[in-house]
Amino acid sequence: MNKIDINQSLIKKLKKGKNKIASFILATTILSGCEANKEICQPIQNTTVKSINAVSENLNSYVNEQRMLNYYTKQWGYDCQDIGNNFSKVKMDFNKNIYYCDSLDEFRKYVDKANPTYTDVREAIKNNTSITGKYEEWLLEGLNNLEMKLPDLDLVALYQNIKNISIVEITTEEMYEKIRTLGACFSPEEGKVYIDPTIVDSYVICHEILGHGISTVQILKDNKYIQYKTDMLVLYADFQAAEYNFKYIGFSLEEGKADLITDIATQTVSGGPYDMEAEQLRIFTETCGIPLTDYIKYGAAGLIKTMRKSDINNPIDYIVSVDTLLSSVRSHEFDLPNNSKMESNMKTFFKDYVDDKIKNGENLDEIKNKIKLILENTSYDWINAGELFVYDSVKMEDLKIEILREIDELNKTEKSNTKVLK
Ligand SMILES: [Zn+2]
Repeated sequence: MNKIDINQSLIKKLKKGKNKIASFILATTILSGCEANKEICQPIQNTTVKSINAVSENLNSYVNEQRMLNYYTKQWGYDCQDIGNNFSKVKMDFNKNIYYCDSLDEFRKYVDKANPTYTDVREAIKNNTSITGKYEEWLLEGLNNLEMKLPDLDLVALYQNIKNISIVEITTEEMYEKIRTLGACFSPEEGKVYIDPTIVDSYVICHEILGHGISTVQILKDNKYIQYKTDMLVLYADFQAAEYNFKYIGFSLEEGKADLITDIATQTVSGGPYDMEAEQLRIFTETCGIPLTDYIKYGAAGLIKTMRKSDINNPIDYIVSVDTLLSSVRSHEFDLPNNSKMESNMKTFFKDYVDDKIKNGENLDEIKNKIKLILENTSYDWINAGELFVYDSVKMEDLKIEILREIDELNKTEKSNTKVLK
């Protein structure tokens, strides 16, 4: 059985009942970083997540029963760390063979070259006999562009990837057969990049190798796999349904991050195939003051922490919303999550960001000005606002006006509430 067969039989099991072992294995196979695995992730999402509104409702109903989590920790050896929102981050060490690092700093402890430079990475490209011809050319050019814009980029994962990676050219049919995707796929576990040479261009190569490879990595050290990924795996507990499951959170932001890196590496201004996700990531990180370089280092887990510090009450909701959007759009099942609206996600996000600040009496004009600048910093003219079809869209300029108006309304409501209280 190849990976796809295994996944499909697991999905069947998952759909049938509450097979926890199946969900675990599926979750680990989802980790492999391929586009295809995101597609495979879709059936789980559809069974648990019907729409963005439902996402928020569902998340609130996931009861984090510490007692049950403790049971699972004992029974299955999950290392659960409460991250709030009724979610636990799981450090999966089931087979005691893979260790998941929390940050690039933690990963750094396991490698020979702790702080590689751009020159080191360039050398690694030249020394890798599998990276040749136009692939070598595109990567070197991409690296030069990154160096100009992001001189402080943490290259520890990328260096390991470039050093170990082999490029495998396959046909369009083989690619679809193997990983259900088109173009290219980076598999850090295998240390391979599958490429369909008839389709790829410099954007695709830089997206896979630089965009993902900058913060998705696995190495073998003392018979143990050491992994770091910017997206994260969490355990959630739906106590009402007596169901425990794993959820892979932030795979959409992983794509957004890969495109943000690739835009810089290829000097693209119009955005790549994951521009919606890149836009959401930009808004989350700019609002919370996280530079792209830090997102790469600390990943979705770091973003969730910082969002919470920035008074975002339900950070996971927003990330899962983007995940849902990505899954639905990419699998072309437009009518499934029919409220997958970037528009509503962004409105709720900014109101969430502002509400506590209003209560604390912070300067509203300053906050509004910050939001205004973030929304004007967009490369978007329009964004998705579809009720039934994601093609419906709203003008970014209009969205900005509406968000600012809604914040004023929120302010009025808060003030009249305070008056009543007095
Ligand atoms: Zn990708």
